[in-house]
Amino acid sequence: MKLDFISIFPEFFEPLKLSLIGKARDKSIIEIGVHDLRDQAINVHRQVDDTPYGGGAGMVMMPEVWGKAIDKVITQESELIILTPAGQLFNQRMAEELSNSAHLIFACGRYEGIDDRVRQYYLNEGFKVREVSIGDYVLNGGEVAAIVIAEAVSRLIPGVLGNPESIVDESHSEDGYIEYPAFTKPAEWRGIKVPEVLLSGNHAEIAKWRKSAGESRANHNQ
Ligand code: SAM
Repeated sequence: MKLDFISIFPEFFEPLKLSLIGKARDKSIIEIGVHDLRDQAINVHRQVDDTPYGGGAGMVMMPEVWGKAIDKVITQESELIILTPAGQLFNQRMAEELSNSAHLIFACGRYEGIDDRVRQYYLNEGFKVREVSIGDYVLNGGEVAAIVIAEAVSRLIPGVLGNPESIVDESHSEDGYIEYPAFTKPAEWRGIKVPEVLLSGNHAEIAKWRKSAGESRANHNQ
């Protein structure tokens, strides 16, 4: 899978050299491209934004710079993801869908966001385009949101996780499913004991306990 990130802050994507995504890059399972939007700026001031038509606060990112940046990476295989708090809410089902894609392009907005004609243009041209939000709150920019999505998607790609079993039974692997609480050694820590059943070796009882502990955890955190 190829992931391209377009942003005025390419430095934000340095952490994608670390951990499992870093290893997946080394193994060529994932290829990552980071593109500075200002390289496509329209003037020597490296301007990428302008005042909004219709008035109002803030600045809007110009379609011309975005068009030039996206044209450099987009193909018929691509899916263009425009990060915006107004988008469809990201969840595990969307992560699964996106993990089947060969190429994701993340358009990371800043200021008041990206001129909407960018979305309209690539849709009209027949490309797959989604506006995606990572939650009902407003960030300063789309970079962190893009990294959240990239991490959730990439761990679903075969070969990225050391143990492929890890993704079978985890929270949100099915709608409403929440994983049971986890414990490791020692059996007692600061006076708190690991539930007895987990030390019993009785797999049927452990499975029963885990199911009910996951359900009560889900109810408690609602
Ligand atoms: N004026 C926009 C609005 O009210 O919908 C908010 C713009 S926000 C300050 C700047 C950029 O941050 C957005 O263009 C988007 O790329 C990113 N962003 C902010 N919140 C986000 C969220 N919840 N999910 C995804 N991207 C977000």
